[in-house]
Amino acid sequence: MLVTIIIPCYNEEAALPFFMEEIRRTAAAMEQAYGCGFELLFVNDGSKDGTLMLLRRFAREDRQVRYLSFSRNFGKEAAMYAGLREARGDYVAIMDADLQHPPAMLREMFEGLRGGEYDCVAARRENRKGEPPVRSFFARCFYRFINRISDTEIVDGACDFRMMTRQMVDAIVSMGEYNRFSKGIFGWVGFRTKWLPYENVERVAGETKWSFWKLLLYSIQGIVGFSTVPLALASVLGIVLCGVSFLMVLYIIIKTLLFGDPVSGWPSLACMVMFMGGIQLLCMGILGQYLAKTYLETKHRPIYILAETDKENPDDQTMD
Ligand code: UDP
Ligand code: MG
Repeated sequence: MLVTIIIPCYNEEAALPFFMEEIRRTAAAMEQAYGCGFELLFVNDGSKDGTLMLLRRFAREDRQVRYLSFSRNFGKEAAMYAGLREARGDYVAIMDADLQHPPAMLREMFEGLRGGEYDCVAARRENRKGEPPVRSFFARCFYRFINRISDTEIVDGACDFRMMTRQMVDAIVSMGEYNRFSKGIFGWVGFRTKWLPYENVERVAGETKWSFWKLLLYSIQGIVGFSTVPLALASVLGIVLCGVSFLMVLYIIIKTLLFGDPVSGWPSLACMVMFMGGIQLLCMGILGQYLAKTYLETKHRPIYILAETDKENPDDQTMD
């Protein structure tokens, strides 16, 4: 029984030594308790600091460590996909390098899967403590909105921190879309998921890579990726506005016939023009979002490009 742990790393030089120490301890304990083997699969997502050096060293010192290194920063989604594709384990876990995902939980996850009752055991944040209130507010709005308009269940607070069976991993790898939104993908493939409550902890070192702006773009990606309702919304809005304007034309004609044509009402006209222009731009924007995603999807670009793996570790002659 082999357990693969995928760790996406982007500029995690500061956190990795702490992570390594913790994960080694957990892995050793689990090896003893369950007799399972471990594979630590690090994915270096184009880090600009010494992350790659560290990974090379880890791989040299420890045969359980493998790594993939991208040619540039492709994003965490790409890193997770690469890890899932290359994982050899019967069970595969994904976790962050910053120790925000406590390695001790791996044990609980493993036990959940081992019984065969579940295909996936995932951590779920119970609350949004320690997060700026504005961000929590927008996050809540996002989940409420996307779950209303999407058939795929997207769970609020669900983490990427999870362990899955080989069957579920293969299902996820078969989804080779370019615009990846893993919260949606995990929900879309289905399978039985067990949720473990978990309290968010501060990262051990380094800093977060997510700005508010990045999160906003990511949420749009999620909406466009897992719902086409906004497109329908644009059409419905168009139809409703057509109806309203038709009624208004009727009203103006009748009013002119009855009371003549006084030269007034230009402010309301200006407002109408602005309003219509705004609606049109909004709808075009929605169309544009889908078109852009379709455009990128049809190019069939690879999701990531590997520059180096542990197999061709330059400072290492002893690896197979
Ligand atoms: N990460 C990555 N590529 C990126 C951004 C982040 O591989 O472009 C990794 C990062 O190294 C970490 C995990 O994704 O292991 C989560 O990132 P971070 O801790 O910055 O996010 P947060 O926990 O603040 O949501
Ligand atoms: Mg983090």
